[in-house]
Amino acid sequence: MPLYEYYCGSCDGVFEQLRSIRESDEPYPCPECNREAGRIMPTSFNAFTMRDGYPRRIPDRGTYWHLGKEVKRPINVAAPAGQHPDLYKPEPTPMPSKGDQNDMADAMRQDGLRQYHAAREKAASIERKVKKTVAKSTKKIPK
Ligand SMILES: [Zn+2]
Repeated sequence: MPLYEYYCGSCDGVFEQLRSIRESDEPYPCPECNREAGRIMPTSFNAFTMRDGYPRRIPDRGTYWHLGKEVKRPINVAAPAGQHPDLYKPEPTPMPSKGDQNDMADAMRQDGLRQYHAAREKAASIERKVKKTVAKSTKKIPK
């Protein structure tokens, strides 16, 4: 049996009642004062209900509402402030132009060369140190 909502004018209260479709339009006795209460349309009474702290429109279709737009989930993933992840489409990162790509390749090549020379310089300096140390130690060894 479907659930219907009724409004009691004397209590100014709304209550829900399971009734058959055939009976649903007839007034139902209020659980508080037993006076007859007329059926109301839930949507005309409450446009929204709350679930999980987020407004949901009645009838509840399992969706959420964000700034008047229907979304499938509450905000739970990263999105800019005030944006809902379902509605927010991040702008695609533009592809670098051909010239930019060449500049980047040059920069990487230069960087690679710089690193290569730095590594060679370091190796050479270590070699010099080793040679110096070896020379010193060989001097110390009495013949
Ligand atoms: Zn009542």
